[in-house]
Amino acid sequence: MTDLPILDHWIGGAANPGTGTRLGDVYNPALGTVQKHVRFASAADVDTAVSAAKKAYEEWSETSLTRRTAVLFAFRELLNARKGELAEILTAEHGKVLSDAAGEIARGLEVVEFACGLSHLLKGTVSEQVSNGVDVTTLKQPLGVVGIISPFNFPAMVPMWFFPIAIAAGNTVIIKPSEKDPTASNWIAELWAEAGLPDGVYNVVHGDKEAVDALLDNPDVASISFVGSTPIARYVYERGTAAGKRVQALGGAKNHMLVLPDADLDLVADSAVNAGFGSAGERCMAISVVLAVDSVADTLISKITSRMATLKTGDGTRGTDMGPLITGAHRDKVASYVDVAAADGAEVVVDGRGIEVDGDPNGFWVGPTLVDRVPTTSTVYTEEIFGPVLSVVRVSGYEEGLELINSGQFGNGTAIFTNDGGAARRFQREVQVGMVGVNVPIPVPVAYHSFGGWKASLFGDAKAYGPAGLDFFTREKAVTTRWLDPSHGGINLGFPQNS
Ligand code: NAD
Repeated sequence: MTDLPILDHWIGGAANPGTGTRLGDVYNPALGTVQKHVRFASAADVDTAVSAAKKAYEEWSETSLTRRTAVLFAFRELLNARKGELAEILTAEHGKVLSDAAGEIARGLEVVEFACGLSHLLKGTVSEQVSNGVDVTTLKQPLGVVGIISPFNFPAMVPMWFFPIAIAAGNTVIIKPSEKDPTASNWIAELWAEAGLPDGVYNVVHGDKEAVDALLDNPDVASISFVGSTPIARYVYERGTAAGKRVQALGGAKNHMLVLPDADLDLVADSAVNAGFGSAGERCMAISVVLAVDSVADTLISKITSRMATLKTGDGTRGTDMGPLITGAHRDKVASYVDVAAADGAEVVVDGRGIEVDGDPNGFWVGPTLVDRVPTTSTVYTEEIFGPVLSVVRVSGYEEGLELINSGQFGNGTAIFTNDGGAARRFQREVQVGMVGVNVPIPVPVAYHSFGGWKASLFGDAKAYGPAGLDFFTREKAVTTRWLDPSHGGINLGFPQNS
């Protein structure tokens, strides 16, 4: 029994407690206390949600493009008008500062706006008179019920990479948000209802592996869009595709910024601090390694440390720069890498453990941390830390930096800082990474391009949102048509030839 509020699932247009008996704790990470519980779905609960979505699909997939567009526009207007409420939910459960929460919502809204153009996006193609009296048309049709499984670090934006386009295309969705910050998905469900989306088109089931496995195994779920850590992304991809589903599974990252000697070092220092410590480093596109060419490394480190000294860590509702980490366990894991760095021979230039914060002492704090001369054999370099720990690795020049980036297991994002157009052009051609910034530290593509990494950062070949997202949530059908006219007819068993 608990006196705290319990967050239910959202199935068929209403809150639903399901039949599962397990509850998860939802913390306020800035206070270090549990603020509510969330229900964990049983496999039967997931099946109930899938049945509701399957039923809603019959009508939603037949709903006119005009009507669907009106619902999408209404949702966009409501979300834009009430985004402040959602930002407060994100800060209370994730811990990111309010301005960063607002930024997350803005990037999600972009995808909603892209999906508002559904009538244009869903146009097929026609080839007239491919043979005498024969036309070929391609249609883009929805898949059916689609599953979305999201990570803790973007509780609003990552689901919004997928569901606006899925719904616009005529699919119905089941979201399984992170159990660590689940409330945003229910808040969004209520907004959809207000926007006029029919019941059962957008459903939320909460939980952990049991819920995920039930989605992966349910034969009525046509596709899975997963975002999270690499080991789980690989697992979801393998189990989902083995069950015959279309799967896109985005995994972890270790993003490098290569700094050439001719770069503007003030811009580089600003970018490294913003991209390294924004959202306490809990971003898949965070910069976690600065590859500094030897000749400028000392100057750059002094510019970075002077900026770090100005950062205020604390409760994200109080105008601070950086909030807490998501859980106590994650805080301890991130902090342990600072010991590893020292033991492996790196130089801990700024140690964020035990910093003074503007907030509750029991919050899950680690302050901005900088480690120099990190050996590339150290786990500080090879593993994703997912916290405010920025590593510096000194390199002799472009070639060594490129070789390090390309030999890593991940390929999510990277950036080069230089004023040499030739070097930048060479980098964008040679680097083995899915998203590249030139003097841009977090090169997250806008909504009308597509998001996704290479190698262990994306399993499957479908990137998220933009044109790739539209392709993922539709399947093409080619229709070859001939209308009889009296001149046709007769028997001919030969393979048809064009004439
Ligand atoms: P996670 O892999 O622990 O969890 C992601 C989702 O999988 C959650 O919904 C969780 O409930 C579920 N899950 C966890 N363990 C599972 C299991 N054993 N079986 C089935 N499902 C399971 O990731 P996280 O800690 O929530 O998020 C951080 C990770 O996500 C980082 O590695 C980060 O790089 C990555 N990420 C990647 C991108 C990208 O676009 N590539 C974007 C955001 C986050």
